[in-house]
Amino acid sequence: MTDLDQYQADANEWGISLRERFELDVHVREGLKPLDQMTTEDHEEEDFRGKVGDVLIANRLFSKAKRYMECSRFGCRLQCQGEAKHEFFSPLYCDLRFCPRCGPRQYARLVAKYSPVLTHVQTHSKRGYLLRELTFTSKNTGSLISEQIRRFNEDVKKTLEKLMRNVKDWGAIWCDEVGFDNTNLHAHVLFYGPYIEQERLAEVWRQVSGFEVVYIRKAHASGILALRHLLKYVSKPPSRNPETIGLLEVAFHDRRRVHAVRVFYNFAGADPDNLESKWDKCPECGAPLSRLPGIHRIEELALQGLKFIGSDCLKRRPKWTN
Ligand SMILES: [Zn+2]
Ligand SMILES: [Zn+2]
Repeated sequence: MTDLDQYQADANEWGISLRERFELDVHVREGLKPLDQMTTEDHEEEDFRGKVGDVLIANRLFSKAKRYMECSRFGCRLQCQGEAKHEFFSPLYCDLRFCPRCGPRQYARLVAKYSPVLTHVQTHSKRGYLLRELTFTSKNTGSLISEQIRRFNEDVKKTLEKLMRNVKDWGAIWCDEVGFDNTNLHAHVLFYGPYIEQERLAEVWRQVSGFEVVYIRKAHASGILALRHLLKYVSKPPSRNPETIGLLEVAFHDRRRVHAVRVFYNFAGADPDNLESKWDKCPECGAPLSRLPGIHRIEELALQGLKFIGSDCLKRRPKWTN
């Protein structure tokens, strides 16, 4: 019997939902803040996370549900192997795309990752090449499913490649977005290359995707600011409704949300899916860091006076994409 089967059996026996069984697990673990010491804010967040978790569980994304519900509640201790044996703590994050805690972390990581290529194209600018912002839209069908997202991204890539046939050294990075509280899938693209007519762009997008609407405009003079503008959608969950957030997580499961092609890809490489944000060296002395056994409530680790550093526990999800 797997953990999950056991959980399901417990839930049936006790007459509670599977989500409540997961939650219970969180509460009975050693070192947990007692329920009566939790603040209203804690409860609100827990309630929100629980509702997102329900949607994930209903769609059989059990481990994601558990992680989403537990995000940043627990942490681990890290110790450096230097003489001073510096100690830190690091929260265990869920790294889900529409997590209000993890979104800003992903944003920071992506900005750091793609800023160098923008500095590069601006300092080695090719004659006639410009940075532009393109927007590709699709038809709002009232729901969003994984296959729709896959196809949409493929169409964006095909359209850019068709427009840039026989052109060298162009590149693009884009981010899939939905409107606030709706299922209107569209992509914001930061594009570097020769001039494209709006009319031609619309024509090719229509041929490839069947959709009508595109926009093109000059990007902000600072490429870095344009990049930040593009990626800001990563940092903000597009709804306050947990049901909507849950369904977005389901739709984007195993789908990449941020895409880079050509110069942008060549320069920054494939998205390492967070592997690079791992802390493996002590920020104080540079000695290797190792994780000490056990997980603890975040409040406890903070009360012990340990210094906070980012997550080191990302390796277990090498396949999760952004
Ligand atoms: Zn999270
Ligand atoms: Zn150290």
